[in-house]
Amino acid sequence: MSSTEFERFTANWNYPTNIRQGIGRIAELAVCCKELAMQKPLLVTDPGLVDFPMILDAVRACKNEGLNCKVFSDIVGNPTGENVEQGVKAFRDGDHDGVIAFGGGSALDAAKAIALMVGQDRSLWDFEDVGDNWTRVNTAKMAPVVAVPTTSGTGSEVGRASVITDTKQHLKRIIFHPEMLPAIVILDPELTVGLPPHLTAATGMDAFSHALEAYCATYYHPMAEGIALEAIRLVKNFLPRATLDGQDLEARAQIMVASTMGATAFQRGLGGMHALAHSLGALYNSHHGLLNAVLMPYVLQANRNAIESSIERLARYLELDDANFDGFLDWVLQLREQLNIPHTLEEIGIDDLQIETVSTMAVNDPSAGGNPIIFTAEQYANIFTAALSGEL
Ligand SMILES: [Zn+2]
Repeated sequence: MSSTEFERFTANWNYPTNIRQGIGRIAELAVCCKELAMQKPLLVTDPGLVDFPMILDAVRACKNEGLNCKVFSDIVGNPTGENVEQGVKAFRDGDHDGVIAFGGGSALDAAKAIALMVGQDRSLWDFEDVGDNWTRVNTAKMAPVVAVPTTSGTGSEVGRASVITDTKQHLKRIIFHPEMLPAIVILDPELTVGLPPHLTAATGMDAFSHALEAYCATYYHPMAEGIALEAIRLVKNFLPRATLDGQDLEARAQIMVASTMGATAFQRGLGGMHALAHSLGALYNSHHGLLNAVLMPYVLQANRNAIESSIERLARYLELDDANFDGFLDWVLQLREQLNIPHTLEEIGIDDLQIETVSTMAVNDPSAGGNPIIFTAEQYANIFTAALSGEL
């Protein structure tokens, strides 16, 4: 594809937020910070990225534009409450006035939580997404955020929440506020070319699971439903390409957009895949996208009676040869195989020792409410058992 053809895929969007999509647009980072009146942004990123040229270049570019930019990277995968506290301290100590959330889902979630917490007197868990806790936030003191994803999966750049691990309770908690939605997002697919195939596949399957669970959710939200449909088509057409050839910039761009769309769509709700993936992620610290990818066919099968007709409609949109539930399930299984996703949870190091804890946690997970069938703990245990053994 030539550079002029790429221009066709460049656009400015304001739904759900201000999104600058296109190759090379990371060059606009300093301009974006200035638009939000930042002078001293704190760039929050993953420790694995901190020495990468993309971070060094971003910091240098900001400094060249007169922004006094510092880096905070003291966070783990599945970021913890302690990570957020340390980030808040770094923000206050450096007298920063905004946050650049730069990296994978963990960095973005940590950064958004830090930007929320820098102006609050309460503790982080007081803002857990329960009831109207979010109204406790002093919004005037929240720091503005520019989000720059470097993976295509979580879609945290367009989310109004962060998933943070409570290490004392071994729980993943959702911290929510409508204004946690980053004010500006830069989607530059070039930032994802270094992502190895197994992470491209796992994060891409997370994007797929967001769109699919949102599509199957029952909440009335046709706009989200339409976005979910198209996101799934982009996954079908471009995730194998992006995984096979990481340099394929068109595929990278389309999957990056699919990821943002998946997270936009899940305002409609998530479901059983995420209810189980959150629980297993907290207990086993496994990769979130990989968990969803492994769980997907088992949860689809368990939901079959409730989703059969909508999956048929989806299968027709995807132009599958067998445009019905079984044809869709077969395609999901083929896609997973093509992407080298294991078929069972056992293959990714999960055992049945905590089956009761897993199923109880899944029932109580906020994502469970979006599933088209409200599963009992016993039903979650059955899905978990099937996913361990591989019996569909
Ligand atoms: Zn997810």
